[in-house]
Amino acid sequence: MIILKIGGSILTNKDSTQSEVDKESLKRIASEIRASLDNSSKELIIVHGAGSFGHPPAKKYKIGEAFDESEYPQKRIGFCETQNAVKKLNMYICEALIEECLPVVAIPASSFMTATNKRITNGNLDSFKRYLNKGFIPVIYGDVVLDDELEICVISGDQLIQYLAKNLNPDMVVLGTDVDGVYNKNPKIHDDAIFFEKFSSLDDLETLEGTTNVDVTGGMVGKIKELLYLADLGIESKIINAEVEDNIFKVLENENVKGTIISRGN
Ligand code: ADP
Repeated sequence: MIILKIGGSILTNKDSTQSEVDKESLKRIASEIRASLDNSSKELIIVHGAGSFGHPPAKKYKIGEAFDESEYPQKRIGFCETQNAVKKLNMYICEALIEECLPVVAIPASSFMTATNKRITNGNLDSFKRYLNKGFIPVIYGDVVLDDELEICVISGDQLIQYLAKNLNPDMVVLGTDVDGVYNKNPKIHDDAIFFEKFSSLDDLETLEGTTNVDVTGGMVGKIKELLYLADLGIESKIINAEVEDNIFKVLENENVKGTIISRGN
């Protein structure tokens, strides 16, 4: 089983406040997944980020921040707007994947997961297993969910990766983003950023810059924290650049691809 995350940074124009899908990247990635499945059958779960669809409404309504009862009606609409926005993105993504004859089925986190203080504490994955057994590809994405402490919160695609991996114990966890992997500082801002082939501690980061854009879910640092948790459980993961043609195909085929392996080992 492979859990593949496709970052919101590749699927959408994340710097924009508009909800724009990067159709070209989406089509290319869908055809790379198709080519890999044609090569050899494999169980696949796809996770995607919310990109420019989910972050602006989540930020506008400050989903996940404390609020009093009088603010609740507005927050509730914010929840609905965010849920609807990420659902729209998911629809575009599933459409592109189905065009490549990939049997994807969306399983939105908001429909079955709940959290406590922004961490998923409840989410039965039986339906994932059932769909996988029948040859489907479950697709889940960054979403809003009910929260026992905060009423509502945002769940990132990266937290979903962690939750799925620790509960389903996949053979491979891959995160496709718009940089080659982890550097000691943001490579989009610093030309002298040093690349890590292997990453095992947050202490190796010089600046804790989350991301270049409007991400409300933690950006690169949030990603690494989730993956280090998996590394502690003995589950290795790899961050690769999904903007580079054929990278997704190669990584699914277990071929060598430039990227950062997140692991606690040496
Ligand atoms: P995605 O939407 O693909 O999940 P994010 O936009 O949340 O990804 O995070 C990827 C971004 O994180 C990169 O585009 C990069 O600008 C930024 N970033 C910040 N710090 C680092 C770092 N130390 N190493 C790599 N990327 C970093």
